Amino acid sequence: MRNREMYAEPYRIKMIEPIKIRDRETREKLIVDAGYNVFNLKAEDVYIDLLTDSGTTAMSANQWAGMMLGDESYAGCRNFFNLQDALKDIMGYQYVVPTHQGRAAENILMSMFVGEGQRVIGNMHFDTTEGHIRMRKAFPVNLVIDEGLDTASDHPFKGNINLEALEEELKNSTPAELPLVIITVTCNSNGGQPVAMDNIRAASSLAKKYKRPLFIDAARYAENCYFIKQRDPHYSNHSVKDIAREMFSYADGCTMSSKKDALVNIGGFLAFRDNEEWYERAVQIQICYEGFRTYGGLAGRDLEALARGLHEGTEEDYLEDRIGQVHYLGRLLTAEGIPIVLPVGGHGVFIDALQFLPHIPQSKLPGQTLAVELYRAGGIRAIELGTCAFGYIDQATGQEVYPQQELVRLAIPRRVYSDRHMRYVADTLIEIGRHKEAIKGMKIIYQTELMRHFTARFALL
Ligand SMILES: *Cc1c(COP(=O)(O)O)cnc(C)c1O
Repeated sequence: MRNREMYAEPYRIKMIEPIKIRDRETREKLIVDAGYNVFNLKAEDVYIDLLTDSGTTAMSANQWAGMMLGDESYAGCRNFFNLQDALKDIMGYQYVVPTHQGRAAENILMSMFVGEGQRVIGNMHFDTTEGHIRMRKAFPVNLVIDEGLDTASDHPFKGNINLEALEEELKNSTPAELPLVIITVTCNSNGGQPVAMDNIRAASSLAKKYKRPLFIDAARYAENCYFIKQRDPHYSNHSVKDIAREMFSYADGCTMSSKKDALVNIGGFLAFRDNEEWYERAVQIQICYEGFRTYGGLAGRDLEALARGLHEGTEEDYLEDRIGQVHYLGRLLTAEGIPIVLPVGGHGVFIDALQFLPHIPQSKLPGQTLAVELYRAGGIRAIELGTCAFGYIDQATGQEVYPQQELVRLAIPRRVYSDRHMRYVADTLIEIGRHKEAIKGMKIIYQTELMRHFTARFALL
């Protein structure tokens, strides 16, 4: 990747969306009213919104122009065929089943393959994937390599699946016990870490040897392919599109949340390489939950923006700028000694709140405290991925069980913010760091049993 200072954004700005920063006093009041939960803030009251990179992309002029060519026919709209062509071109896949989001594609896939008591293997399943597996009383199994969970490791492909462990699982089970392997690229759950081509190829031959289907969770496939180009010398002269073609050739199909690397605000799909029987089974479920096979819960205009976005998402100047910006923010923070997870992944920077606020023990929610402080100090919204998100109360003992890590994620939307916004985010964190002794931590005053971080309320200590 070239140095960030050696190039500028590969686009210019045709339309702007004003954002406002509320004054400090107003922010203090708004966050109290929100019960100190940033999910309860109105988006209008946020200056820089780094809650997620999902569905927050700025579309291009070409995508907006495509939306005017939306064909809203119930069956056989032209935009569906454009989407089909995009998938054949980029992924080499024959069959596409559009859905309203990535999780809807997962629902169809799991309905087809997964039943009670089975194990579904992955490098690290995303939360909605886990949810769909657990809903069927099956078990999600994560086999990411040890380096993938070690924040001190600078392994270039921390999303890799442990191949020995994968073979053990496959060897010691029948297809009725273990029906499916899923590789998530990039690996969202450990910070957008890439998976190597060699790893996917080897996982694919194991899946073939033991006759199990392999699917890719492709939400951030283009970012993954860009990392392969940067980090695997064998691919440095390959185009991202060629890398994508090869990567997808090792799988039987994929699910995708288009809200990530397909550069649109809504949509998803399930795709199959060549298995027509699977495709027809999927369409049966799609018709029940999503809609007819050529629209799957999306408008024709959405399908067109998606088809165009898939192509744009593989353009290398775009990817260099996008991942370059995430890494630029990472460098600004490490230069000031702010502890983040390294190496920085594809879609966000993760602050280690336990190290940043060492005087606040995990029981006093340093991650959530930092997320709140980011809003109070700078109008910035980030998400806690620590005790609130992953901790829980053990029903037997009544004790809180703490996760290994206490992180705050700054997810960077695609093509939305400038490097000056990144500078502002870094400066806000530096400023918080200067006065951190005054920050005391928080406690939960209301919570639900499941997914409490969305609805919990807090009080300052
Ligand atoms: C976002 C995401 C999903 C779910 O997609 P939605 O469009 O949010 O339903 C699945 N897997 C990964 C890796 C994701 O990042």
